[in-house]
Amino acid sequence: MKRILFLLLAGLLMLLAGCGGKPAPKKDGQGKLPVGASFYAMKEMTEAIGGDRVEVTSLIPEGTEPHEFQPTTKSMKTLSQARVFVQQGLGMEPWAEEMVRAAENKNMVRIIAAQKVVPIANEDQEEIREHGQYDPHAWLSPFCARLEAEAIVQGLSQADPDHAAEYQANGKKFISRLQQMEETYKGKFQGLSRKEFVTGHAAFAYLCRDFGLEQNSVEGVFAAGEPNARQLAKLVEYCRAHQVRTIFTEAAVSPKTSESLAREVGAKVVPIHTLEGSEGEGGYLEQMEENLERIYKSLK
Ligand SMILES: [Zn+2]
Repeated sequence: MKRILFLLLAGLLMLLAGCGGKPAPKKDGQGKLPVGASFYAMKEMTEAIGGDRVEVTSLIPEGTEPHEFQPTTKSMKTLSQARVFVQQGLGMEPWAEEMVRAAENKNMVRIIAAQKVVPIANEDQEEIREHGQYDPHAWLSPFCARLEAEAIVQGLSQADPDHAAEYQANGKKFISRLQQMEETYKGKFQGLSRKEFVTGHAAFAYLCRDFGLEQNSVEGVFAAGEPNARQLAKLVEYCRAHQVRTIFTEAAVSPKTSESLAREVGAKVVPIHTLEGSEGEGGYLEQMEENLERIYKSLK
């Protein structure tokens, strides 16, 4: 079924391209390296490193939940005209393999940003069935993000060697800011006795690994609209045992679920960024820092 969809998309694409297979001339971004990035965080990181030299288009349109994405004609077109494709890896883009094949873009350098990240395996059977073997959310850890930035520098330099020095310089700046963030918050979190926080969507396993923290999530408790009483009771107990006074909520997950839990345990609800879409203000680094500061404040 999926294969048929891809063939259909590839066919449509050829029609759009006038059957000649030649990419249409770029409307804007003349002379810039056309880059397709899978979702928001990948786009932000690539823009930080590529600077003025790149024109980055997100394959997953704004407002689409990245975990649920299905390739579209538009995203196929972006990929077929890109010189570079940046994806997270770790199963975040289960559609990528087939899409890259269908795009038949031999000029394209493919960057799997998380290739050097030590993966965290999913343990829950349901989770494995839905999202694969590994937890994909490595971009939310500054340490993993440094490895990802290196992979992006390398890929952009390979696709556009004339400007490799610029990519390296931008990458160095980006990485040093992540390093600073890491050092600051390692110190801050070490000084705390509480380490547990609760979010809407369990997206912070890599961040927790780096800083010795623990996450729990309301995800699943309210699946299908009906709260699962036993799971909710367990989560309430968890919040009480660890004196959780803040429940984090994300744009992609209904805040209602977090609000119900917060009411139950007398906590407040605070937004947090998963960077899966552009829900927050500021760029990647600003939102990462905001996350760390908000988690820190909730544990103080
Ligand atoms: Zn996610």
